[in-house]
Amino acid sequence: MLTRPMLAEKSIKVWLGFWETLAGLFYPNLCQLCREERATRTEGYVGTNCRKQVKCIEPPFCECCGQRFFGEISQSFRCGDCIDQKIAFTSARSACSFEGPVREAIHSYKYQRALWYEPFLAQLLLDAALPTLTKTSWDAVIPVPLFSTRQRGRQFNQAERLAQHLGRALHIPVLDKVLRRTRPTVSQTKLPKKARAENMKDAFHIDQLPETSLRRVILIDDVLTTGATANACALPLINAGVETVVVWTVARSEPR
Ligand SMILES: [Zn+2]
Ligand SMILES: [Zn+2]
Repeated sequence: MLTRPMLAEKSIKVWLGFWETLAGLFYPNLCQLCREERATRTEGYVGTNCRKQVKCIEPPFCECCGQRFFGEISQSFRCGDCIDQKIAFTSARSACSFEGPVREAIHSYKYQRALWYEPFLAQLLLDAALPTLTKTSWDAVIPVPLFSTRQRGRQFNQAERLAQHLGRALHIPVLDKVLRRTRPTVSQTKLPKKARAENMKDAFHIDQLPETSLRRVILIDDVLTTGATANACALPLINAGVETVVVWTVARSEPR
């Protein structure tokens, strides 16, 4: 028998499917970012010229948080932030910089339900993450959860949808009930650096652990700002017995 939350989830999926089909009818083969070039549904309606403006995150970067080092360095290093703070995750990596076409696509995807950008964003994540992630085995993908009222308002969790792409590629389960956001938090981007960890303190709890043990997990979000959200998610996982948490995001905010 279907429970009320299951019915709600089912109706959201039907609604999202309808929305995607509708988008396909209204935006035939045109890049939705510049509207000047051809782009197909499987490309997420982002054309070649706009893709050329994507700035991939290349090394050298901090071995822990993945923050880029803009200069000459030959050996691996930890940035000042990761030396000063207790970091619960093993590493955080992002596919590209949160600017230009990626910023525009993520904003529309999240806040205007522009779901047609999803293939573009998911492919950025997979292209960057799979070469590293396929070298070892993983037990599950865990998306960073939204607070319940925010998810109801948005009708989907972008991190969960992106995590599904990675889970399918790695043939591992996506566990979206393990972590729960205990309270709404203000956007990290609006806070000074010091206040960000405080804003996220105890914002995530363990909700449901699977019966099989979780040793190595991949935490997924769309954007990494300072790593405070990722750290606040990783901490309860580590406290619950998970040995390794690596974080992957499509994009990260970088200092200008
Ligand atoms: Zn374009
Ligand atoms: Zn760092």
